[in-house]
Amino acid sequence: MLSQDLKSLKGHVEWLQSIVQFVPIGVFQIDGDDKYTFVNPAWEFITGCSLTRALGTNWWEVVHPDDQNLVFNHWAQAEADGKELLVDCRIIKVNKEIRWVRLQTNFLFDDSGKKIFGSMEDITKNKLEALEKENLIAELYEVKKQLEITSRTDPLTNLLNRRGMEEKLISEADRMERSNKIFSLILCDIDFFKKVNDNYGHDAGDYILTKVAKTIDKYSRKQDVVCRWGGEEFLLLLPETELDGAVALAEKLRIQVEEEVHVFKSQKIYITLSLGIACMEKGQKVNSCIKKADLHLYAAKERGRNIVVSSDK
Ligand code: GH3
Ligand code: MG
Ligand code: MG
Repeated sequence: MLSQDLKSLKGHVEWLQSIVQFVPIGVFQIDGDDKYTFVNPAWEFITGCSLTRALGTNWWEVVHPDDQNLVFNHWAQAEADGKELLVDCRIIKVNKEIRWVRLQTNFLFDDSGKKIFGSMEDITKNKLEALEKENLIAELYEVKKQLEITSRTDPLTNLLNRRGMEEKLISEADRMERSNKIFSLILCDIDFFKKVNDNYGHDAGDYILTKVAKTIDKYSRKQDVVCRWGGEEFLLLLPETELDGAVALAEKLRIQVEEEVHVFKSQKIYITLSLGIACMEKGQKVNSCIKKADLHLYAAKERGRNIVVSSDK
């Protein structure tokens, strides 16, 4: 009876051994000193290291140096929790090739002490595909972010464009409704700009536009929002600014632009600005505030240009 049991046990052991020999997953065993005591052919194939070479070496030597801490931390945690270790890491094969593996170990305790069995599955293909996907998603996210910025930026002056400003206006109007924070608008238009193009060429016109944009940006406050509203028109949104403050800034801008000498291809070009101002009133729609600034700008043109108009009088 006993010999029958032994025979059947031997049969089971041989059966298990042949499975370990043929499975495509690396199987290994290490002793209490972290040294390999057994590796199967799949492990030899994955690491490129033979059984004879592996025996007696530390199990973690195959792990990529940059991933060793990660593996050790998982290892310590698994041991503390009495659970199996499961971690994805890179290994360096004997031929220096780097592969991704899924490392899994189990701690077994028998009469002879602690035994550790582990498996190592080559997941390089899946990992690289996943990394590629991650990189692609990150790239797409970057492109999307860039597109969002581009769609709100005027390419010539680098200021916000009309679309970008419309969003700011809506949010500032909402803020005013919620917290009564007042704001003002300044609409500026370059005087006789058509003549600049006609007399000095379109490139000179573009150059002047970039210079005026810089001046407006430079003299406005950090919290002010400046945009190129259209051709040679700029709109400024001045948060928490009453009419008086807006007039002061508009006058500063008018004088600055008037005094600036632009040199384009050795030609001196002088320009002036007309400016219309409106202060947002409670309950007013933002479009009607823009319209009011536009009417004041029109009045400035009517009154001879190079002036600031802030009221209907
Ligand atoms: P006003 O004092 O009444 O504003 O006269 P103006 O000549 O400035 O106004 P008008 O509307 O007659 O002409 C505007 C000119 O601005 C015509 C247009 O070609 C020019 N313009 C608009 N956008 C650009 C641009 O991006 N670059 C250049 N160079 N010119 C532009
Ligand atoms: Mg003009
Ligand atoms: Mg205009």
